[in-house]
Amino acid sequence: MTTLKDIPVALDAKALAEKYRIRPGSDQVRQFEELVAEVQEAGRPKALYEVAYIDDKGEDWVSVGGVRLTSRVLRKNLEEAEKLFPYVATCGVEADGLGAAGDDIRRKAWLYLLKGELLEIAVAHVQDHIGRHQQIAKLSSMNPGSGDASVWPLTQQKELFSLLGDVEGRIGVRLTESWLLIPEISVSGVFFPTEADFETCQVCHREHCPSRRAPFSEEAWRALCADEDDGRVETQAEPGGSRGPADPGGRG
Ligand code: SF4
Repeated sequence: MTTLKDIPVALDAKALAEKYRIRPGSDQVRQFEELVAEVQEAGRPKALYEVAYIDDKGEDWVSVGGVRLTSRVLRKNLEEAEKLFPYVATCGVEADGLGAAGDDIRRKAWLYLLKGELLEIAVAHVQDHIGRHQQIAKLSSMNPGSGDASVWPLTQQKELFSLLGDVEGRIGVRLTESWLLIPEISVSGVFFPTEADFETCQVCHREHCPSRRAPFSEEAWRALCADEDDGRVETQAEPGGSRGPADPGGRG
C-alpha cells in the first residue's frame, strides 16, 4: 500500500477567481482570495493506492486477490491488463473542517469548489505517482457509481474498499452504509494501464453535466456496454456518484 500525505498544494487565487467568474476588483473577490489563502494553509489532500494483480477474468468481472469486481465496461477495459491500481483520493479532513455552521451560502459554495480543487490535485498526484513508479505511460480510471447506473454500480465500493485495508486510518476517508464517502469530496476507483484514451463520460448519458470531460460516444457505448446476447443497452444515469464537484476524472 502506498499512502501519499504530503501532496503539494499551490492554489492560484486570481486564476481561480477568473475560473469561477468572480468580478475583479469587487469585495467578493477579496473575500474569495482570503478563503483561498485559508484553504491553501489548511488543505492537506491525500491519497492511497495498492498494486493489485488480476487472477481471473469472466464475462463481466475480474477477480483481484479473490475479490470480484463486477462491471462489463471495466472487464473490457482490462482485456490486456495483468494488474490494476485501486485507489482513494480526498480533499482531506482539514479542508473539510473549514466550514462552520454560521457560514453564508456564498462562502459554503466557494469552499465546496475549492475542496474540489484539492481533490483534483490529489487525483493528479496519485495518477502521476503510479505512472512513474510503475513505469506506465498511460493510465485511465473508473469509479463505482460514475456515469450510467449499469457501468459500475456504486455498491461495488464494498469490494473496492476490501482491497485497500484501513483507508480511514490512513487518510481519513470513511465508507458509509449507503456506499458514499466521507469527506464528501473524495473519490474511489481503479487506475489501469491503457493504450486508448478512456473516460467514463464517453459511456454516460447524463445531459448538461458541468463536469463532462469527453462527449458521449455511441461507438464506445456499443463496444463497452451493449449486452452481447441481444444488443440491449441500459441508459439510466446514477443521480450522484462517488466523486465531488470537480469530478476531474469524469466520475459523475
Ligand atoms: S462527469 Fe458527468 S458526464 Fe462524466 S461520467 Fe460523471 S456524470 Fe457522466
